[in-house]
Amino acid sequence: MLKVKDKEFEPYLSEERLDVRVKALGRMLSQDYDGKSPLVLGILNGAFMFLSDLMKEVSVPLEVSFIKIASYEAMKSTGNVQELVGLKEDVQDRHIIIVEDIVDTGRSMEHLKGLLQAKSPASIAVVSLLLKPEALLTEVAVDYVGFEIPNKFVVGYGLDYDGYGRNLREIYQLK
Ligand code: 5GP
Ligand code: MG
Ligand code: MG
Repeated sequence: MLKVKDKEFEPYLSEERLDVRVKALGRMLSQDYDGKSPLVLGILNGAFMFLSDLMKEVSVPLEVSFIKIASYEAMKSTGNVQELVGLKEDVQDRHIIIVEDIVDTGRSMEHLKGLLQAKSPASIAVVSLLLKPEALLTEVAVDYVGFEIPNKFVVGYGLDYDGYGRNLREIYQLK
């Protein structure tokens, strides 16, 4: 049992399981991007630990950068607007690999892909460590999935609960 702030969590994905799966994803990317010089875009903050481990398992030299999705409440009529922050690289004609911690409803990823697609990359692939199939509300394609998990809140290995727990080596599930 682990307490993060006011909530109790229990171990869900061990360091060993994460390690085995991250290595497998790294091998897939190494094969699929051989000779392609991709640009990897990690989504901050959640993907930082996964991305760091994953990149060490990819044998192809590639470019790594980080972006943030900023959400803000605009006018009531338009609802929650999301904006891409920190993209300095020219993505036109590049092979883009988005690295994300978790795809839940898929709305963030769908929106992000749309924003990047408008910049005419050669291709876009999505790598997400976690996917909650039961929570998906969009048809966004996630090309590489670490683990499909039930619709329960998780923390650790980059993922936070109210800002805390990103440092944990394992992934914990809300009790
Ligand atoms: P989506 O747009 O797919 O619904 O939301 C994805 C984002 O919601 C993730 O990048 C993450 O920040 C947050 N999220 C969704 N599910 C979880 C979860 O179980 N744990 C944590 N820590 N964040 C989550
Ligand atoms: Mg995220
Ligand atoms: Mg969060």
